[in-house]
Amino acid sequence: MSSLFDYTLASARDALRARKISAVELVDAHIEAIERLDDGLNSFITRTPEQARLAAKEADAALAKGEGGPLCGLPIGLKDLFATKDVRTTAASKILDNFVPPYESTVTANLKQDGAISLGKLNLDEFAMGSTNLTSAFGGVMNPWQRRGSTAKLVPGGSSGGSAAAVAAGLVLGATGTDTGGSIRQPAAFCGIAGVKPTYGRCSRFGTIAFASSLDQAGPMARNLQDCAILLESMAGFDPKDSTSVDKPVPHYEAALGRGVKGLKVGIPKEYRIDGLPAEIAAVWDQGIAWLKEAGAEIVDMSLPHTQYGLPAYYIAALAEASSNLARYDGVRFGERVTGASLDALYEATRAAGFGEEVKRRILLGTYVLSSGYYDAYYLRAQKVRTLLQRDFLQAYEKVDVILAPTAPSGAFAWDEKPTDPVQMYLNDVFTVPASMAGVPALSVPVGLDSHGVPLGLQLIGRFFDEETLLAAGSVLEKAASFTHRPTIHAGVSA
Ligand code: GLN
Repeated sequence: MSSLFDYTLASARDALRARKISAVELVDAHIEAIERLDDGLNSFITRTPEQARLAAKEADAALAKGEGGPLCGLPIGLKDLFATKDVRTTAASKILDNFVPPYESTVTANLKQDGAISLGKLNLDEFAMGSTNLTSAFGGVMNPWQRRGSTAKLVPGGSSGGSAAAVAAGLVLGATGTDTGGSIRQPAAFCGIAGVKPTYGRCSRFGTIAFASSLDQAGPMARNLQDCAILLESMAGFDPKDSTSVDKPVPHYEAALGRGVKGLKVGIPKEYRIDGLPAEIAAVWDQGIAWLKEAGAEIVDMSLPHTQYGLPAYYIAALAEASSNLARYDGVRFGERVTGASLDALYEATRAAGFGEEVKRRILLGTYVLSSGYYDAYYLRAQKVRTLLQRDFLQAYEKVDVILAPTAPSGAFAWDEKPTDPVQMYLNDVFTVPASMAGVPALSVPVGLDSHGVPLGLQLIGRFFDEETLLAAGSVLEKAASFTHRPTIHAGVSA
């Protein structure tokens, strides 16, 4: 290894166990990289170097005795949507600016239990609502990738934009993300890393600040799928504190990576060839099809007939749930408070000052679609569409094992190219939302660069609780693509 920034999570794990490197030097190098690069990238909201250094010393002591969990000594970052005990947790909202949870989310507790070391809390779109990370009350995140010959700031995608940027820039070896309608997969694609949205119920939602509870799912983001598999194995599992977490044994995901795709049926859904799909995106998709075929998969043209209703139904269902979930931020129990002459005035002033524009828009729309007279026309109908979307996938999986599609209809765009019309913005989620509505697992892997030199990802969507087949197929794409490009801004490149 020429530098501590060439390690993946897997190779660093092995080097730590073999005592080739120490946790202290690994963690120190990453803290130094954050100090060097993150004032510009803004991928962290809260840095926790003191706690990390302490944990690294303990990790070295454990490793010296041949002890320590499977992630012992590995520096990671946590999306600031996961409650962390005694560490400020903001959801990138002003309304939670001063919120220090007295408890830890199950997912982050699992990672820490296994020895992972958090370097801090990562930036995101406010309450995970967005696809650009520009809705954060703590400022936007800069994608470490730049277009060839340009220094224009690109978005890292969202909502897990801080997680994706920090991993891509080499500031952490892996990170947690959450995905409600694409928030792991789309930023992973925009930043040239891998991300897995597990089956709904695979990871506990306890202590993850809720956006849309029936869709929210935690998952790993890392430089490759092996690292994602390692993180997912730690994050996943039944949790009595979350009634939607599923009591199923957690497989050894890493072992599934080498299974290959021989004999596997890979579906190509015709509805994803949307009008106006950029030629570059269509080309990487075709390339992905060719790679899987070469590796022995059978390619099956198929249909997910209700795809076109996925996006509108998502933006009703998710917003309805958001309006209900965010009712708790009233200035009485959590976070910021702006006082008023009456209790109602206090609520109004607090919420007016505490929430950003996109969050307010969603609360208003969500409240509208749930209100009497509109409930049947919007909310109930969206739920029916959701059932149809689910049925599309269930029927598809009678014929195919996995589905291959693009992750997003574009690569990363510039901060100032963000559509001003929110509906235009929502269209970026067109390929990720259906799997979320159905609850099935999906992942994104980087497979190439667009004509500007910015990464593009491909998405694989799998059967309920069959993350293993997804990882196996994803791994074939990963090998064929051998994506080794690095972004302009990277910890291993001195300025
Ligand atoms: N971009 C989508 C939205 O804005 C998805 C967000 C997410 O998955 N958290 O709702």
